[in-house]
Amino acid sequence: ASIVAGSIGALSEVMGEAQRAAGATERLLELLAARSEIQNPAHARPLPQRTAGGAAVALADVSFSYPSRPDTAALAHLNLSIRPGETVAVVGPSGAGKSTLFQLLLRFYDPQAGAIALDGVDIRDLDLHTLRGAIGIVPQDTVIFSADAMENIRYGRPEASDDEVIAAAKMAAAHEFIERLPQGYRSFLGERGVRLSGGQRQRIAIARALLKNPPLLLLDEATSALDAESERLVQAALEAAMVGRTTLIIAHRLATVQRADRIIVMEDGRIVETGTHASLVALGGVYANLAALQFHHLQAAPSETQA
Ligand code: ATP
Repeated sequence: ASIVAGSIGALSEVMGEAQRAAGATERLLELLAARSEIQNPAHARPLPQRTAGGAAVALADVSFSYPSRPDTAALAHLNLSIRPGETVAVVGPSGAGKSTLFQLLLRFYDPQAGAIALDGVDIRDLDLHTLRGAIGIVPQDTVIFSADAMENIRYGRPEASDDEVIAAAKMAAAHEFIERLPQGYRSFLGERGVRLSGGQRQRIAIARALLKNPPLLLLDEATSALDAESERLVQAALEAAMVGRTTLIIAHRLATVQRADRIIVMEDGRIVETGTHASLVALGGVYANLAALQFHHLQAAPSETQA
């Protein structure tokens, strides 16, 4: 499953309407919240003033089953503490619970047991707008709206100026390709407009996230192979996006896991190994097997994609 898988259906249903609405992000979040069981707390707590360098994330003994499969634990007794500014790569076989972890951080669901805290505050005590406003998402498959390039990026923060959009696009290595489009930033994208490549769509998503400037970034790395140039540009954009914030990445690429401060390896809803790429390869366990299969597969057969 991809990031925010549970909400993608809802997202596309409301997209047409949300696009036309002012304050599209707020509306979208309201609609998403209304569709789920998740309620705003009656007395929301604010996030504490952050000094710098990203948010702290803590999961304490989190267990979760999807409502439709109450007897199967998607996450079981998950404990994880992430320091501000840390880059954590999450790896594991399909069905391990990687996307579920992201969905719980965004509070699309609440765990049946345990607690998740952002900067020391239980996320159930935060207003949903506060919580989701603090989190930037770069999904595997970026939704490109039927709008021009400027508006597609501005979606990250609707009140941003054109100059701010362009600055974000430059950091995300999207500026050059946008400038080369027939009408530059005014070029119409989407189904009936310019069709972007996978790498270009990812860089639009990264530009959106940079514009939003959240203390916590959730990144679901694309599994499909990109051509070498696009790959290089996406990696550069990700590097820029991670500076000064806490980042969790569902990682599929060797370059990403090698660069992470810490890798957590998930299997059957549990964290089974944790360490750096080198230490986990040396361990010769789940990660070593996964790395041998996955990273080789991607590099040896660049046209193939993984589910
Ligand atoms: P992948 O790499 O394939 O995306 P993943 O590690 O992200 O896998 P999850 O999508 O988090 O794994 O799935 C964890 C478990 O929860 C799996 O058993 C999966 O079948 C189940 N699951 C995921 N989404 C739902 C859902 N919406 N409803 C019910 N079960 C779900």
